[in-house]
Amino acid sequence: MIDGEDDALPSVKFKPKIAETRWDPIEELKLLSSWEREGLYKFNKNTDKPIFSIDTPPPYASGAWHVGAAAHYVHMDMIARYYRMKGYEVYFPFGVDRNGLPVEVQVEKIYGIDAHKVPREEFLKLCKDFLDKVEEELVYIAWRLGMSCDLKNRYHTDSPEYRAVTQATFIELWKRGLIYEDIRPNIWCPRCRTTLAESEVEYSERDAILAYIKFKVVETGGDIVVATTRPELLCTCAAVIFNPEDKRYSGLEGKHVVVPIFGQKVPIMKHPYAKPEFGTGLVMVCSFGDQADVRLFRELGLKPRIAINPDGLMNEIAGPYKGLTVHEARQRILEDLKRQGLLVKAEGIVHRVPVCWRCKSPIEFVAMKEYYLKQLEFKDAIRRIANEMKFYPPEHKQLLLNWIDSISSDWPISRRRFYG
Ligand SMILES: [Zn+2]
Repeated sequence: MIDGEDDALPSVKFKPKIAETRWDPIEELKLLSSWEREGLYKFNKNTDKPIFSIDTPPPYASGAWHVGAAAHYVHMDMIARYYRMKGYEVYFPFGVDRNGLPVEVQVEKIYGIDAHKVPREEFLKLCKDFLDKVEEELVYIAWRLGMSCDLKNRYHTDSPEYRAVTQATFIELWKRGLIYEDIRPNIWCPRCRTTLAESEVEYSERDAILAYIKFKVVETGGDIVVATTRPELLCTCAAVIFNPEDKRYSGLEGKHVVVPIFGQKVPIMKHPYAKPEFGTGLVMVCSFGDQADVRLFRELGLKPRIAINPDGLMNEIAGPYKGLTVHEARQRILEDLKRQGLLVKAEGIVHRVPVCWRCKSPIEFVAMKEYYLKQLEFKDAIRRIANEMKFYPPEHKQLLLNWIDSISSDWPISRRRFYG
């Protein structure tokens, strides 16, 4: 933000402080100390100068500061110094992000512990000690790089003051009706035991078994074969789809099938998501194997049922498989299908699996009560504001516009965490 006009700036005279013509790194340390002594980069909010403020993303204290992040901060530092030389009072804060999953995952790894199995207070203390140590190294690097932030007055995202601001913001948004509570299928990491946002899901190539399973058509008594990598989700199957272009199955539209083992009758529908070349071209729509299933349920107007609990175990919807892990249930169902002559074949494939961005465990969809921040209804407003903003370089505006276009649900803001 630029406060005031360029032509109203006071003139600045440049006085070099170093006489040597050859550079010696020792000079850097002398300089850094003198900057600190003089309090050169303290921000004076009562200044008469125009104010230039820089909003910085606080670096994450989850390990050694990455050279890429440090380089990024040096860019910001150049801008800060440029505006100081132009006569502005520059507000260039430095903070440390001390929240979130990565910290907990690191502490679990270092001490070889499971956050769910050690006393809470003990775990919080280990997180705090770890953060203090990482922060010390991080701030030293920032200081040694010559960053012109006021490093002494840095902010911490886990300080009581910062948390008070977070809570006040939450309460304000709640009062305005912008935050609501809802039970919905959530993207869930059974290992970290937390809800994840869509942007926190990664994809990984994993070995899987593609099972070809017989379903009986209600109206004709004939069999169709559906291929799936998630047979444990048969209990939540709500439809079978085929591609509208796939002539092999056009006679099936409007008919129904009986889901093996569980016996529910579900419709056969056409939808372009089914790829004729994958498996048999028939796809069972279950709640939920991945994000595509969530979309299919919405588009086809199907009612989802969730068979997996937050601890990663199958629940009563899975009937006789209740209490088993997802993996155990998958094995057991494959054995049962085979015994009943319903498994036509099982082939090993490499499959794209949605995984947790931190621990790389496959994610699941579970029904949970969470807080959501409304964002869908603001997409047009954000787009309008983006068009009013100046971007340097201009093409970076597209990154923001792409992000706005990608938003397909309100923002789940609650997390089930220990620290922060
Ligand atoms: Zn995880």
